[in-house]
Amino acid sequence: MCGAPPRPIQKKFNETSNYFPAIFPIKTGSHLSLVESPMSLLLPTTIVGSYAQPDWLIDRKRLGERFPPRVRAQELWRVAPEWLEQAQDDATLLAIRDQEAAGLDIVTDGEVRRESYSNRFATALEGVDLDNPGTALDRSGHPNPVPRVVGKIRRKHAVQVRDVQFLRAHTDRQIKITVPGPFTMAQQAQNDFYGSLEEMAMDYAVAVNAEIQDMFAAGADVVQIDEPYMQARPDAAREYGIRVLNRALEGVTGTTAVHICFGYAAVIHARPSGYSFLPELCECKACQISLETAQSRLDCSVLEKLPNKQIMLGVLDLSTNEIETPDEVAARIRRALPHVPAENLIIAPDCGFKYLPREVAFGKMKAMVDGARLVRAELGAQA
Ligand SMILES: [Zn+2]
Repeated sequence: MCGAPPRPIQKKFNETSNYFPAIFPIKTGSHLSLVESPMSLLLPTTIVGSYAQPDWLIDRKRLGERFPPRVRAQELWRVAPEWLEQAQDDATLLAIRDQEAAGLDIVTDGEVRRESYSNRFATALEGVDLDNPGTALDRSGHPNPVPRVVGKIRRKHAVQVRDVQFLRAHTDRQIKITVPGPFTMAQQAQNDFYGSLEEMAMDYAVAVNAEIQDMFAAGADVVQIDEPYMQARPDAAREYGIRVLNRALEGVTGTTAVHICFGYAAVIHARPSGYSFLPELCECKACQISLETAQSRLDCSVLEKLPNKQIMLGVLDLSTNEIETPDEVAARIRRALPHVPAENLIIAPDCGFKYLPREVAFGKMKAMVDGARLVRAELGAQA
């Protein structure tokens, strides 16, 4: 049902969409004639979503000392509100250029504009009271302030379309954008309105669906839905998780991915030996499933349970600042090869880079690209 992983196809830069400040030269002319050799189309590399934000933009120490924000956390930004968007744009360019310099095939905006992966979208919706937030248990079991749902969840307007347009305008590579999943957002809210969590999650799904359609229309090559709480709350996920996820993907024809994980290594330290919610994802409409295998040393035979999916294979351990060698990365890729055809593998970190120092994030990204190259060459030699 899903085609080959996204290929690094060159897109023409659309001059008319360049209404953003270009503090870096935009690749034009000869740079556009990139022709990838067939071999380089195997094992494309990408990040899960977030890149390390600069210290001058956000108070990373405070960010790291608290649970990921579910309501807004304006106090974390170091830049005054009137200059914040400009600063976030500039920091996004840095994130894009770092990914390009490291050699990634599919780049994201680094989620530089977000305080957490989910709250930028979740707090923009109608039906939530942010001034009088509620409480929900985080996946660690600790209470965290969350949006209090007091009315019907509805998307008032597109939330991340400008983010996609900005990214599209500033790179020639394939682009991916992430959006929080409906199941996860429902777990990160206090329900004071709906008769059931499923009903609430379904309205989140309608909002996510509209956003996904808009993000593809704005030029996204891949849209990734982040659903880490499917792993954290497997019983509820089994009950209605796939239904709401598929509602979010209804009518979507572009390449979609779902990321599930064990939580940020910086926040959730322990790793179980395997996923509690995995084979069930066969039933979801997304093409790609993003999983972590590095820190958890996942038994990759479990990947055979997702025969109809491409696997975004997590090969970077984000619990340590130690930068992997390309050989280590290559070994982690090889672990998956007996269980997933190489054509169906996309190479990625375990999770987001948000809490890593920038130089570490860059080093790991580079090692990942070099490790993928090693295995690509081996596969070419075998072919
Ligand atoms: Zn994750």
